[in-house]
Amino acid sequence: MNIIKIIKQKQHNQQLTKEELKYAITGFLKGTIKDYQMSALLMAIYLKGMTTTETINLTRAMLEQSIILDLSLIPGLKVDKHSTGGVGDKTTLVVVPLVASCGVKVPKLSGRGLGHTGGTADKLKAITGFDINLTTKAFIKQVIEVGAAIITTDQQLVPADQKLYALRDVTGTVSSIPLIAASIMSKKIATNADKLVLDVKYGRGALVETEKEAQQLAELMITIGVSFKKEVVAVVSNMDYPLGNNIGHGLEVKEALSILKGNINSRLGELCIALATEMVSLGKNIEPEKARTEVLTNLKAGVALAKWEELVKRQGGNLKQIKVATKVKLIKAPITGYLTDINALIIGTFGLEIGMGRQTKEDIIDYGVGVVLTKKINDYVKAGDTLAKVYINKEDVNINKLNTAFVISSKPITLKPIISTIIKKDYKH
Ligand code: URA
Repeated sequence: MNIIKIIKQKQHNQQLTKEELKYAITGFLKGTIKDYQMSALLMAIYLKGMTTTETINLTRAMLEQSIILDLSLIPGLKVDKHSTGGVGDKTTLVVVPLVASCGVKVPKLSGRGLGHTGGTADKLKAITGFDINLTTKAFIKQVIEVGAAIITTDQQLVPADQKLYALRDVTGTVSSIPLIAASIMSKKIATNADKLVLDVKYGRGALVETEKEAQQLAELMITIGVSFKKEVVAVVSNMDYPLGNNIGHGLEVKEALSILKGNINSRLGELCIALATEMVSLGKNIEPEKARTEVLTNLKAGVALAKWEELVKRQGGNLKQIKVATKVKLIKAPITGYLTDINALIIGTFGLEIGMGRQTKEDIIDYGVGVVLTKKINDYVKAGDTLAKVYINKEDVNINKLNTAFVISSKPITLKPIISTIIKKDYKH
């Protein structure tokens, strides 16, 4: 086999075989296929796409070079969740303890931030002492005893994805639907929970822009899951605006705590409840309505909060010491009217600049910085009202760039619902 021939085949929109994809992935990992050759292949895939069969075979080729976690010591059904990423997305911090409090086991591996989207592993580091690097043995023991554990993705977990992602990031090929699907599903199948709930986001702050693309991505990931005998449900949600009020690691941990304390009347609360409902329904094989009642009961009775406190303590964290910057600058409304836009991408990109994310792999994250939105879409604001508070550690931060994220108009807008569809397919084991 020959990589140049494989690249040309894809350029001409020909389907690649299982063997060709395996050859490309193993050669790339070994280094016999060079970065520039893989970049050319990724660009051809980005431009010409892949069939469902090719995407399943790519996922399989990536998995063949990975460890698969053995979770067989954990009794019962294990349910995982994954979000395709967004600005202010702290759903994992709410959903994991909430689902565990309903008696469903959640072994959760979380990544670090990608581009302008934050990663759960980084958010957890804002809790003083929290250990995201448990050994596999300790991780499994905690899932058995506490019901859930959250650790960071291991180097051995789908190394092909790590190498491919780094290349996609610098070759403009991240937002390819088959490449995203293979990347996410290879890691989820390697994590090896029995069932999976996906939060597939669309909009300005997400990896795909339109609802139609998100549905396509969701359906493709469900099909990949089924071919690996995993039942998958996808919740398609909007990411035009930041999710929740707080953006920034420590600030997001605080907002998640507030949801767990029962403050659920928001778009963020709605999404957390929907995700938890689907996970509990899958994990207990019960109807979603029944699962939703359990989820709401545990939230209101403080059982989910107690589970979060238990999980954090067990992983060495101290919820009384969450890192938040002490200097605050204010963004004020320039005119009176309805707040009709809060641009997630502008806020996410600003966050990167103030230290919330990494612009290079080596960058050190500032867990305390971030933005707290004090108004929501369609609120009526007066000139001079505070729209947002910017938490910083350095005085010399220019917050003016953030002004363009907010639009004030004479009329309110029709807001897209946070959840557009929940996609399920008939699944027979
Ligand atoms: N998240 C991933 O893990 N991979 C992608 O390609 C996109 C989002």
